Amino acid sequence: MASRYNYLERELVKLKRQNFYRTIKAVNINGSTAIVNGKRAIHLCSNDYLGLSQNKHILRKVVEQFRQISQCSSRLIAGNDPKFFDLEEHLSKHRGTESSLVFPTGYMANLGAITAIADKQSTIFSDELNHASIIDACRLSGATIKVFDHNDSEHLQSLMRYCVGKKIVITEGIFSINGDISKLQKICDVAKSNDAIIVVDDAHGDFILGSTDSFSGTCSHLGVNSMIDIHISSLSKALGCFGGYVSASRTIREILINKSRQFIYTSALPEHLCTSALLSIPLTKNGNLQKRLFDNIEIFSHGLKKLGFLIGDSTTQIIPIMIGDEKLTVKLSDDLLKNHVFVQPIRYPTVKKGLACLRISLTSLHKKNQLIYALDAFERIGKKYNII
Ligand code: PMP
Repeated sequence: MASRYNYLERELVKLKRQNFYRTIKAVNINGSTAIVNGKRAIHLCSNDYLGLSQNKHILRKVVEQFRQISQCSSRLIAGNDPKFFDLEEHLSKHRGTESSLVFPTGYMANLGAITAIADKQSTIFSDELNHASIIDACRLSGATIKVFDHNDSEHLQSLMRYCVGKKIVITEGIFSINGDISKLQKICDVAKSNDAIIVVDDAHGDFILGSTDSFSGTCSHLGVNSMIDIHISSLSKALGCFGGYVSASRTIREILINKSRQFIYTSALPEHLCTSALLSIPLTKNGNLQKRLFDNIEIFSHGLKKLGFLIGDSTTQIIPIMIGDEKLTVKLSDDLLKNHVFVQPIRYPTVKKGLACLRISLTSLHKKNQLIYALDAFERIGKKYNII
């Protein structure tokens, strides 16, 4: 190996020694199952929470309308297919905001929105469990970053008390690893009393939580929708599609179009992905898929707790099994796969060192017998490694 790569080789050795080394598996998904590195398994790590990514009706319609792979241009140049406006109108109605703007991914929506509204004169108050895309966005903005204890509005208040200048509070709806719901009412009260802009990334609560005729996310579920300045979400979770979006006032949308480098300097989301999102949205509104999902959540989280696993404060489709040790967590994941259950280990830097977990995510596609099979496997593995 060339000597100029020595430091990279050393870095890989270090990652392996610390049990933080990652590899990628070949995953061929088929609904609630997948073939993972050649092994058939129950798929317990999908963000396709409502099972729409392989929906036959959507696939047929998308194929019928399919006419180009990509617009091969950014939205500000020639990539702005009219379907974007249609999709953004639907998303604004869904979120109850004046306007929306679609980005190529949720990651870029976070980067684009936060860097456009925050600068060196701003202070951002960010929940300690916020997703990496929020963390990266805060860093990139150049703002002063103050991290408040998870879901702790009192800590937030103590950090905000003596802060002068532009303030922004950022949190999530359903937290992406722990699967708990944000204490948004209290967080919003503190933020508003300190005259801060409130940003909520609801990638995991969008189309899952909310009133039974809208499922417009965690903020409306908790009755604080009108207090939120900027909603950020992904199209690649409950909608089973791809892309990200921001819903906010017209002023914010205008700022994003003019200032967000992640919007301006990249190719537009392929328009067939707008088509699939537009077809998915109506299928999320009658509540049948969410009902199935929440029935599955009840069975599985109850089953895990009964077996003695620690699942933190999760009440949603994201269920972490708290393990701690990184090496053991990887071993558990490997063993579960040998037992035909696919669940990924989550380690530093996604979570803090020594707080590794297995992140389970459920979908409306899981059948009761699959969940019982998986619980059986968890019991065997849990006993084998003395976790339960
Ligand atoms: N925000 C949160 C909370 C997420 O969990 C994720 C991805 N897992 C993203 C944003 C990024 O979304 P996307 O995959 O669409 O880039």
